[in-house]
Amino acid sequence: MSTLDAFAAAKLARLEAQSLRRDLAPTHRLPGALARRAGQTLVSFSCNDYLGLSRHPRVEAAAKQAIDEWGAGAGASRLVTGDTSLAHRLEAELARLKGAEAALVFGSGYLANVGIAPTLVGAGDLVALDELSHACMFAGARLSGATVATFAHNDPRDLDRVLQARRGGRALALTETVFSMDGDLAPIDDLLAVCARGDAWLITDDAHGFGLVAPQARAPLQMGTLSKAVGVYGGYLCGSRAVIDLMKNRARSFVYTTGLPPACLAAALAALEIMQAEPERGARALTLAQRFSRALGLPAAQSAIVPVIVGEAQAALRMSQQLEERGFLVVAIRPPTVPAGTARLRVAFSAAHDETQVDALIAAMRDLAPSICGAAP
Ligand SMILES: *Cc1c(COP(=O)(O)O)cnc(C)c1O
Repeated sequence: MSTLDAFAAAKLARLEAQSLRRDLAPTHRLPGALARRAGQTLVSFSCNDYLGLSRHPRVEAAAKQAIDEWGAGAGASRLVTGDTSLAHRLEAELARLKGAEAALVFGSGYLANVGIAPTLVGAGDLVALDELSHACMFAGARLSGATVATFAHNDPRDLDRVLQARRGGRALALTETVFSMDGDLAPIDDLLAVCARGDAWLITDDAHGFGLVAPQARAPLQMGTLSKAVGVYGGYLCGSRAVIDLMKNRARSFVYTTGLPPACLAAALAALEIMQAEPERGARALTLAQRFSRALGLPAAQSAIVPVIVGEAQAALRMSQQLEERGFLVVAIRPPTVPAGTARLRVAFSAAHDETQVDALIAAMRDLAPSICGAAP
């Protein structure tokens, strides 16, 4: 075996031994929160398509029509010839929805987060992140060259401590509005107050809030994704005109990458229209999440995400497999996505689910894990 392959094989063996090896499973997502895997049709609770828009006929039609009109790909970076009027319409719409002066669409939420921080801070500066922030927020922070620090989850006082300890330079603070693996909400008002006192700029990542949770106070930098509730693909930042114009010039993950396919832009525009015309979609996902958390005696759901903490990775995997045998797709989330010892089932609800599906999952969870899900009324 070459040293390269031996290296890879040894790494994989170590992951395998810890129940942390991951593999891809081809999945055919169908309308109605269903998914076909290995010949079995499952009710999926492991999708971020919270509003059921990725398979909405009008969203699909908008994508098809954009391909006919604009072609399959953008052909170049937005700054060269990859810009379209679709992108400008989408950005105007995002800025309006977020109450910001301007917006910029990135290739994905990940690309937005690796581009934003390095455009605003560098060596000698500070980035303070909520300790449970998404991996791509940490990636952007490290890429910036600034000192990276974490503050205790949802703890404005601890952010204050981190900011007070800095010795000069600029400071960015990062949080998610709705935490991706816990479903809880950040105290944006309090974080903004701390940032104002400490002269720090707050970035909120609204990946799991947009379209679902009523916006709290607005941070000066609001990023998010078009890949979850919007049902398509892409990321964005909303902010002042000056900040957005700077990003166009300096955010490397915007400048040096091809514009999104026109089909993505057109589909996202159609999805935003539906999101606004039918606010009951977001409300429904939330109501179903609360129905589930109440029935299992878990903390009341604040978003469409309900974590069922299992503990060890192997136990979470086993529970996920048992649920799959009963017709439910609930993927186990393991370290390093979540802290060690907190492997979990992350149950995500969607407007596409119905009460019968949710009640069937409740019954299965009670049956499989009475010790975790037994505190039912
Ligand atoms: C999913 C996610 C991202 C990445 O967004 P993509 O558009 O999928 O790249 C960024 N931040 C958070 C909090 C996320 O959950």
